[in-house]
Parts: sequence; C-alpha cells; structure tokens
Amino acid sequence: MVPEQLTGQSGLETKIMSMIGGKTKLIGLLGQPVSHSISPVIHNAALAAMDLDWCYIGLPCDRQDLNTVCKALKALNFQGLNVTIPHKEKARDICDTTSSLAKRVGAVNTLVPNTQGGWHGTNTDVEGFLSPLKEKKLKGENAVVLGSGGSARAVVAGLQDLNLQQICIVSRNKKKLQSLIEQLNQQPLNNSNSKRTTLKGALENNIELHELINNAGLIINTTPVGMNTNPQPTNIADLIPFGEKIWNESLTPSTILYDLIYTPRPTEWLKLGAKVGCQQIDGLEMLIQQGAASLKLWCGIKEIPIEIMRRAAKRSLSI
Ligand code: NAP
Repeated sequence: MVPEQLTGQSGLETKIMSMIGGKTKLIGLLGQPVSHSISPVIHNAALAAMDLDWCYIGLPCDRQDLNTVCKALKALNFQGLNVTIPHKEKARDICDTTSSLAKRVGAVNTLVPNTQGGWHGTNTDVEGFLSPLKEKKLKGENAVVLGSGGSARAVVAGLQDLNLQQICIVSRNKKKLQSLIEQLNQQPLNNSNSKRTTLKGALENNIELHELINNAGLIINTTPVGMNTNPQPTNIADLIPFGEKIWNESLTPSTILYDLIYTPRPTEWLKLGAKVGCQQIDGLEMLIQQGAASLKLWCGIKEIPIEIMRRAAKRSLSI
C-alpha cells in the first residue's frame, strides 16, 4: 500500500481505491452538477468501514437523459441511486412504485431496485432534515420556509409532523408557490391523529414578511442563495436570501435559523443570524443523515457508521 504522505490519501481512501473490481457493487448520485458533492466521500467512507465491496460514484446526468440513464444503470445492476438537483421531482415518473412519503413530498431522492427489474422511489431528505431538530422544542411555534423548490417540499413535509402553529413558505415564484401549497394541503399527514398545521404562502415582496420573520421560532433557507458558486457574487447582500435589509430589521434572538447549505459553513445568512444571537443549524448533518438512511435501504444493514461519515465530510470540507 502506498503511504499517505505520498498519495495525499488516508489509509481508508487507499483501501477504497484498491477494492474496486469486477465484483464491486455500484451505487451513485444522479444530478447536474454532481462534481461539488461530498456524497461520494461520505458514502465510500461508510462502505469501507462496513467492509463492503461496494462503491458510490457521482453520475452527471442532464434533464433529458434521466429516463435512459436510470434504465441503463438498472441494467448494469446498480444497487441504488441518490437523486439530486434537478431530478428530484421528475424521478417520480421513472419509478414503478413510490413510497407513501415520496408521494406526500412529491419528490424522490432515493431509488432502490425492485424485484420487477425497475426502481422503487422514496425520500430520505425528510428524515435527514428533521434529525438536527429532534432536541428542539418547537411545538406551537411558527416556521418560515424560504424557497419553493425540491428541498422545500421535503422540509415542509417534515415540519407538518412537528405540531407547529403555522408554516409560511416565502418564494419569488408565484406559480410554484401556489402549486406547492395546493399539493401539500391535499396530502394525508404522516400521523393521521395529528392536527394539520396551517400552511400559507407569501411572495418575497409581501408587506407581512417583517411580521412573519419577527414571529417565527424557526426559519429554514431552502434556496441556493449563499452557496459556494463559481464565480462567487462580490456583494454580501447577494449571498443572503431576499437581501440583508429584511433580516436586519426583523430577526429576533429567539429564532432558530436552519440553512440547508453546507458550503460555505457558515453561510452569510447564518453569520448575520449569529450577530443577532440566533441559534444556527447548517445543512451538513442533514446531508449525512439522509445519506445514512439511503445506505440503510440499499445494503439492508441497520448500523450505519454515521460518525465515520461525519468525520469524512468534515475532512473533505477542511473543517
Ligand atoms: P431547487 O429545486 O432548484 O429550488 C430552489 C428554490 O430556491 C426555488 O424555489 C428557487 O426559485 C429559489 N431560488 C433560487 N435562487 C433564488 C434567489 N436568488 N432568490 C430567491 N429564491 C431563489 O433546489 P433544491 O433541490 O431545493 O436545493 C436548494 C438548496 O438546498 C441547494 O443549495 C442544495 O444544495 C440544498 N440542499 C441541501 C441538502 C442537504 O442535505 N443539506 C439537501 C437538499 C438540498 P425559482 O423556482 O424561482 O427558481
């Protein structure tokens, strides 16, 4: 084995590279782009720690190729797939069956092979999103969700199980906002005994936005605003969802800010919240927990080495 000083790789990474062969079972991440993703790092660290001859790879796939690629990967005997931007909603259509949760969310992030030679779709983003909120007392609070895209669906579906007072989705996109609220309001709740939380929407220029932010116990950013991009905006205001002014005027220290973004860590929005004294959560734990939940489904092993995934993620992000 080549020493770490020469390869720049850890013993674990060298072990991963040396074990890929003809019998290696393959899993991967379908999206566009996928080159920035640390999912291969965290999954391969877990697979090596579990001593499985499996490998997780990033699979760039354009919108129009999703159907063909999914069929081809099934024919190649892939053991599972994660699905990310921009395929989470479209992926429902290529599945023979979907879980009740995926139906409720309206998005699929995990494909599991079925016995009929196709794919079963489910969603582990909800479990991942809720994980860092387990210890928080949120019953009766108001939540604000920024953005109305794919991950907002999983976030709202998760929030609907927390016995909140109200969930308000803030968006710049009227059409998407309306269809998201209509669809989520029609879905059955996870627990049929729980009361349906009031779900409302507001456009970014809504005059009630100040009050909504001021009265929120939890605010979640599901927009990509603030994420590391190339080139990076030079103006800080462009790195804060819906601009800096509204937050400076409306945020209170009792509010928890949760940003789904994990690069950079913290984002400018979370830094702004820290100045006000808000508790903050970033997207790294969600990424790890949704990944671990997917891995559990693919390999059927209940004990996933989550701490190893966490360490691999932090190492790759140089934290
Ligand atoms: P998406 O489906 O493209 O949705 C993005 C949403 O943000 C849309 O509603 C979009 O509005 C809105 N948006 C984009 N730019 C905006 C801007 N400048 N101002 C206001 N709104 C804006 O993407 P997604 O899959 O939900 O992912 C969103 C972010 O969450 C990404 O940064 C992703 O990395 C992160 N994420 C993290 C995890 C994790 O495990 N930590 C999991 C999932 C997603 P339009 O519809 O008008 O474009």
